[in-house]
Amino acid sequence: MRKIEIFVNGVWDASFEERQELVIYDKGEVHTIDAEDYEEFIDELEKKGFDCYLCIDMFTNPNWDGGIIWDLRQVTKQLELQEEIVEKSGINIVSCGNCGATILHRCEAEQITCHACGYDSEPCDFPDLNY
Ligand SMILES: [Zn+2]
Repeated sequence: MRKIEIFVNGVWDASFEERQELVIYDKGEVHTIDAEDYEEFIDELEKKGFDCYLCIDMFTNPNWDGGIIWDLRQVTKQLELQEEIVEKSGINIVSCGNCGATILHRCEAEQITCHACGYDSEPCDFPDLNY
């Protein structure tokens, strides 16, 4: 049976559909499942409240003619410090997916609104700072 991988809560460029270029910064949690269980797995995931996932196999089919870029950078000192802030305060530091402004928000927020441009979306459209 064919196995596929699904990345959950990782970090990737959310504008890949317009840009025809998928950039993956962090795979997040990797789940390997049977290809035929895809629909069921995604349904379960959405029931649990995860709406930020990526299946790389979607980008190996002929309908996708863009590129896939892996940019799994080494953990830097900045990133370590940022994680420390998040752990101690519950406040995360992200960049606006629209205008690039730096935004502070509580980790449990389900929706983020940019104070600079008003862009309002899910957390996966606001990449963590330093990624
Ligand atoms: Zn913005």
